[in-house]
This record gives sequence, C-alpha cells and structure tokens, in this order.
Amino acid sequence: MTSPSTTLAPPNHALERTPEEWAETLGSWGEPRYRGIQVFRWLHQRGVFDPAAMTDLPRTLRARLEGEALAPPLETSYVHQSEDGTRKLLLGLGDQRTIEAVLIPMKSMAPGEGDTPEDSEGEADEAPRAWVTQCISSQVGCAMACVFCASGIAGFKRHLSAAEIVGQVMVGRTTLAATDERVRNVVFMGMGEPLHNYDAVARALTLLVHPDGLGLSKRRVTVSTSGLVPEIDRLGRDFGGQVQLAISLHSPDDSKRSEIMPINRKYPLAELVESLRRYPLPKRRRITIEYTLIDGFNATVADARALARLMRGIPVKVNVIPMNPVADNPLGAPSWEVVDAFQDALRAQGVASFVRRRKGDDIAAACGQLALAGEKKKVRVPLPVTS
Ligand code: SF4
Repeated sequence: MTSPSTTLAPPNHALERTPEEWAETLGSWGEPRYRGIQVFRWLHQRGVFDPAAMTDLPRTLRARLEGEALAPPLETSYVHQSEDGTRKLLLGLGDQRTIEAVLIPMKSMAPGEGDTPEDSEGEADEAPRAWVTQCISSQVGCAMACVFCASGIAGFKRHLSAAEIVGQVMVGRTTLAATDERVRNVVFMGMGEPLHNYDAVARALTLLVHPDGLGLSKRRVTVSTSGLVPEIDRLGRDFGGQVQLAISLHSPDDSKRSEIMPINRKYPLAELVESLRRYPLPKRRRITIEYTLIDGFNATVADARALARLMRGIPVKVNVIPMNPVADNPLGAPSWEVVDAFQDALRAQGVASFVRRRKGDDIAAACGQLALAGEKKKVRVPLPVTS
C-alpha cells in the first residue's frame, strides 16, 4: 500500500513527500538518493522538523533543508479530557481555522467496535500497551449536509492538505508520548467527508502506513464515507481493498435516507450497495456500516430487518450509534430498550453488530462539535498544551 496502483497527485508541501519523492528532490540537489529515506524518517517516524537536529545528515544538506519550511502543520491549542479517558484535541491550522481529532482508549470501546479477532490476524505479537483509536478530520466543516451532524450543519469551509491530515496523527502520538498509550487505529470519522477530498486523503493514507513513517497497519486505517460511489471504487482500485471501509448508512430506505443525507439523491442505496459488492475486500474482513439511531425515524425492528435484507451477501458489521445530541437540533436518541431491540433484530438476521456507547459526552466529543463551537462563537483557546 505504500505505492497505490495509480499515481498520487503531486505533493503540495515538503511534508507530503514520500521517501521516493524525497530521493528525487535530493537527487536533483546532487545528494545520494538514500538520503531521502533518512529525511522522511526524521519527519514522520521521529517527529523532528528542525533540520539542525537531523544529526545523520551532512551540514550542507541540513542548511539547504532550512529553506523547505519543515514546520509542524498544525498546533494543539486545547486538550479536553473526558472522565472515560477520551481526549479531544482542538488543533489550529495556519489560517486560524480549527479542526478536531479525538483519542479514544480502546479499552472503553464496545466489544467488536475497536478490534475483532480478524483485525489482529497475522499481526506480530507486541508488548502489551494501552491502545488508542484516533479519530481524525479530513476537511474544515463538510459539504454533505447530513442533518444529524454538527459538521454538516456548519457547512464546508475548506479541504485539509495531506500534511494537515497526517499532522493530526503526529500530534496524537506526541500527546501520548509520556504515557503507555499508543495510537493503533486511525479512523477518518472526524469533520469532513474524506472521499470528497480524495487526492489529499489518498496521499495521507500512503504516508500513514509507510513503514519508515508512522507505520500504521493498513487494516487499522478506516475511511468512513457517506457514500460517494465513484470514489469508493477509486479507493478500492488504488489501495487494493486494504483500507478498511465504513459507510454512513443510517437508513435502509431511499426516501428516508435522502431526507437526512442529501448525498443519497445523487447515489441512491442500490448504487451504493453495488459499489460495496465491487469493493475488493480481503478474505475474512468486513465493511463497517455506521447506523445512527434516531428516535422515531429509523430505529424500529422493521428498519433493522430491512437493513439486514439490504446487506445480504456483503460481509458487514453494523455499528449502531444512538444519536449524539446536537445543539438546536430536535432529533435525538431512542431509549436503550429500543436500541437493544434493534440490535437483537439484526442478530436474529445473522448480521454482526455492536452498539457504540458514547465516549466523552462531558467534553462534546461528537463529530464536529468542539470545532463547531469554536467556529460559531469565535472562541479563543488560551491554554498551551504540548504538541
Ligand atoms: S456525517 Fe460525515 S458526511 Fe455527513 S455531514 Fe457529517 S461529516 Fe459530513
């Protein structure tokens, strides 16, 4: 996966170069190509951006790298810690905008939510650690306008660059550096529709899983989409199905889904489901179906059965999410009895499912909420936190 089958769009910034692109650049400066991997490791594996500290490089090269603007792409301006260990990072971009990333301890997840036996299959045993799933953003705001989502309500502001996407995971790593916790899973479930920003996301994926960089396992990076069919196909082609795919589905009924997710008018369920059948999923892996339960709208046993029928023949696991409260939005979560009945009905149809108990409610850790609050109220975030 370090080399997708199609060519990546050119990097916009030195921090976005792959080792091969660094080798090209350094080669054009008259340096040996192997220096490319050295520079890449300093930046992505060690998180060192100051060329003066890159001690295995010759002094002349370090001096030249000073001109490459190798600064961290974002700064942590605020960390909120929830009682359950979830940490929400508010991150400042160069243009004064803010995005969010969330660090979620995997021990606080529902069984099957963060890790399943097939997720670990073939992975080398490692020293026991406290593993963390990091939820990252791909855009500032979102153009998809899903009615249950704070980012959708905020509207689209701009795409993030590949450096800004990868930079979130670098910040996550630094935030956890003094603990025994490590980022193991990365999910594109923060602000933004990742496949609407395909070129930057494809480059970020390539960098995140590079063994000489952050070195994430391919199967531990999940792209979550509202259903952009051509880009689902493209992702499958470019990365051979190795990237985990999650679909924000939320209703098995076209008219209802279009009500809450305008993208469904462009790519209705039949087209979306066909794209899932085409996705080159490796054996024993499953696509995640994200299903937000909204009281009185999509949460009946009949809805669960219709969902199971829609997914028949596709290896899926359903992530049932009682709706997070969104300010000024009358929609809400059903009772736990309704949630349990929905899950039981899925199980009775042979569909694997798990219920996401909300993490970090006390810090507004739902998708888009913290950064949305910052955008709306023009909050100035004063506390410096290590980054
Ligand atoms: S749910 Fe996802 S795709 Fe829909 S508006 Fe929110 S961030 Fe965008």
